[in-house]
Amino acid sequence: MENIVIYTDLDGTLIDFEDYSFEVTATLVRKLEGIGVPVVFCSSKTREEQAYYREAIGVKAPFITENGSAIFIPQDYFPFTIEFDSQIDDYLVVELGTNRENILKELEEARKKSGAKVFGYADLGIDEISQILKLDKKASQRAATRDYSETLIKGDKSTKAFKEMTALLEKAGLQCNAGGKFHTVISKKSDKGKAVKKLHQLYKRQFPKMISVGLGDSANDLPLLQSVDRPFLVQKPGNWWDDLQAPNLVKVPAIGPKGWVEAVKGLL
Ligand SMILES: [Mg+2]
Repeated sequence: MENIVIYTDLDGTLIDFEDYSFEVTATLVRKLEGIGVPVVFCSSKTREEQAYYREAIGVKAPFITENGSAIFIPQDYFPFTIEFDSQIDDYLVVELGTNRENILKELEEARKKSGAKVFGYADLGIDEISQILKLDKKASQRAATRDYSETLIKGDKSTKAFKEMTALLEKAGLQCNAGGKFHTVISKKSDKGKAVKKLHQLYKRQFPKMISVGLGDSANDLPLLQSVDRPFLVQKPGNWWDDLQAPNLVKVPAIGPKGWVEAVKGLL
């Protein structure tokens, strides 16, 4: 078998869109890790959220958090020294984004100047957050423990003041991305695609012929899918694909985790 690394989105791709379960993919992921194929998570999820899934499934590979804000590489993972920006627990962290402290400071200023009445995790107690997210307190805590971004989860995002705030954040090198329900304030430099490329360069230093495989389900996976040798797009619930274009993109005719299994089995 060729040497491959799998870079994968989580929500709606490796894990179920609706109930966040990983039953469909876990066995195959364990098998891959067992035969030395790294499964690298690359998602908007936080370090603690990803740690939860890594532990539950048994994944040892590096992982990319908060939409390409940082790459977490287990110490001694590569047989050479690598450049890193910080160290958390047993991980060397390569940072692409801006730390949360900075983001909260800029956000506070932009809110004051614009008068926008929106609130993020940092402004709310865990009880309120868990009510809004409809998650239990532990899961809410994992979602709220952000290193490189802030999520705006409460308040009116259709006002003129909100637009002004967004413009001020842009000037400060940040972007305010609209998600399904919430907005995420994050550095313009956070990038799933760049993070994947950086990490894959390290793999290639170790194994020059290493091939990158990418799997995603949504528009926010486009940078990831554009940065790998073999990109796969899985279906959304209801059997349709997000309208994405990337060189060599393979549209897998199955939803989320089922599509994941189908695509990866085809590679082995
Ligand atoms: Mg997704």
